[in-house]
Amino acid sequence: MSAATLTKTIPVARPFIGREEETAVLEVLRSGWVSQGPRVAEFERQFAQYVGAAHAVAVSSCTTGLHLALVAADVGAGNEVLCPSLSFIATANAIRYAGATPVFVDVDPATYNLDPACVEAAITPRTKAILIVHQIGLPAAIAEISEIASRYGVAVIEDAACAIGSEYQGQRIGQPHTLMACFSFHPRKILTTGEGGMITTSDEKIADRIRKLRQHAMSVSDLARHSSSQIVTESYPEVGYNYRMTDMQAALGLVQLQRLEEMIARRRYLASRYSEALAHFDWLVPPVEPSGSRHNFQSYMIRLKDNAPLTRDQLMQEMLDRGISTRRGIMAIHREMPYSEERWTNRFPETDSVTDNCIILPLFHTMTEEEQDCVIDCIRQLS
Ligand SMILES: *Cc1c(COP(=O)(O)O)cnc(C)c1O
Repeated sequence: MSAATLTKTIPVARPFIGREEETAVLEVLRSGWVSQGPRVAEFERQFAQYVGAAHAVAVSSCTTGLHLALVAADVGAGNEVLCPSLSFIATANAIRYAGATPVFVDVDPATYNLDPACVEAAITPRTKAILIVHQIGLPAAIAEISEIASRYGVAVIEDAACAIGSEYQGQRIGQPHTLMACFSFHPRKILTTGEGGMITTSDEKIADRIRKLRQHAMSVSDLARHSSSQIVTESYPEVGYNYRMTDMQAALGLVQLQRLEEMIARRRYLASRYSEALAHFDWLVPPVEPSGSRHNFQSYMIRLKDNAPLTRDQLMQEMLDRGISTRRGIMAIHREMPYSEERWTNRFPETDSVTDNCIILPLFHTMTEEEQDCVIDCIRQLS
């Protein structure tokens, strides 16, 4: 099959949902308990076990999870939180929700993750936390950044939205490398619950606080009240939120968790197939995987060099004209209206270059090798 014979567009991503998921969600619908309940508790237990964390707390999204994580780390008004500009805008929005100010830091041009030297240079007396992002699934330099953070007495939180199943120094992301890690189950990520997120931590007090904050800070959960033989009167000692996951979502997540290793293995196989084929083109840079890290390839992103035959946007359009859907690479938050302040001008050369020159290629569990060959052929034709 050549690109010319494509009858339908190859999407850039597609969630992998099977009959088992349908059955599991249907069971919840028939059980009469659809909001946060026993399935959420079970999903939390199995998720904690999968990543190797003491506690996992399910929330409505990674964005709301990041908000709660920052609140639980006592981040608030007057504080600065360091984070990459090269990230999805939710990273910075969560910092603003907490009342703090995001301070953007440039990235390492090889890994697209925070550059530790730039992190240290950005620390001020107002810095309260560093929000590191494992961009598109590749773990950031956790050890280097944690070492800097501990010298300045600053907390580290992980935006692990894309990093489920990724490994850092042989350990899964979500283990106690930092204070907390937040995952996303949006359909654009590997494991999906429609919408949803999970916070992992080894700190029992923090886990307990987050459990309460996600539920209006209520002193007892619905499940605990429901299971009690005594009447229970709850209290609300602080202003909390409704950031709960539903049991329908958790049922979906439990099945997806069973598929996760297989889904990651498939992505890694397809990613290595891309990298092998694309190594022949001197005008693009395939992704790297530093030793000691396991990439889950939530996305497969290439970077165009100066000698590329087309501009990034021309290439994306030509591919779309041939039935192949791509996405621009990771956005730069400092260019968006709520964050485009004068003071950022020209301070993120690597971020600017990456965001202007990268493309995310199609990669999904059910992608066939024939479909992948179409993508590779198309790039060859356009070279
Ligand atoms: C997807 C994503 C988020 C947001 O996740 P939601 O679950 O959709 O809220 C946050 N940060 C990064 C880096 C992401 O890729």
